Amino acid sequence: MKKSYVGIILSLILSITALAGCSTASDMKLVEGKVNVITTFYPLYDFAAKIGGEHTNVLNIVPAGVEPHDWAPKSQDITNMSKAQVFIYNGIGLEGWVPDFLHSLKQENKLLIVEASQNVDLIRHEESADDDHAHDESEFDPHAWISPKQAKVYAENIYKALIQADPANEQSYTANYEKLAARLNELDRTFAEKIASTARKEIVVSHEAFGYLSRDYGLTQMAIMGLAPDAEPTAQDLKEISRFIKEHNVKTIFFEELVSDKLAKTLANDMKIETIVLNPIEGLTEQDLQSGKDYFSVMEHNLQNLLKGLQ
Ligand SMILES: [Zn+2]
Repeated sequence: MKKSYVGIILSLILSITALAGCSTASDMKLVEGKVNVITTFYPLYDFAAKIGGEHTNVLNIVPAGVEPHDWAPKSQDITNMSKAQVFIYNGIGLEGWVPDFLHSLKQENKLLIVEASQNVDLIRHEESADDDHAHDESEFDPHAWISPKQAKVYAENIYKALIQADPANEQSYTANYEKLAARLNELDRTFAEKIASTARKEIVVSHEAFGYLSRDYGLTQMAIMGLAPDAEPTAQDLKEISRFIKEHNVKTIFFEELVSDKLAKTLANDMKIETIVLNPIEGLTEQDLQSGKDYFSVMEHNLQNLLKGLQ
């Protein structure tokens, strides 16, 4: 290898600095006569909208194209959120601002609080103790939605919450939920079946977002960055990743669209291997949304890319 680790780290720091853009508050309009549902990031929005259908007004508070790890609401967002009927968040430490928000709600507030990840089979994050850059105090990996198996738990939690918030429309929510659950079951089966047949099982990814996907479908994840995209690797980490790539004859590094791909591309270039997208669905871009993408189309694309990268 010609390029030194110091060189890689320098280019990493530059790309990380470029990431620190600002996000604008989303334009939230509550609708009278509907169940107003606030979600904290895209997969929750997608599931709530699919189950809620015509009876709900689902608003995603993190703007399109922004990943949720470092996002926090402005005071106007907080005022709007507290006037809605249902508030759905991931939990497991993904949204560092949520505990303060919940604490700020007045006692008479009727907002139904839903932790969508409740009852998922959690993964303990072993490295968090010695990781200065961990994005929160949580000792668990928050990225459970990315596994269709765990996404089914999310859908069920959201379904139960909507019935609780609006029992009059239970029939409609049940019909929509059953459709969604059947699609998630199908996606789960397809992932299990297709990944079982790949030649390789090791994935090298940008940030550590694929722990649940890896555990549930028999893959081993090596992440360049930490649980949050701003948890940058040390020289020692990079050595370990390079060793992992060589040892397992890894042919592809997976990168994502909402996080700078510079690090993944620098490493891939250095190791003379390919890069391809693996989307952790922490948010869709405006363009994705306009072209009609959703959890399912992104996951199907993820599966195609995984199969390509694991040949
Ligand atoms: Zn993440």
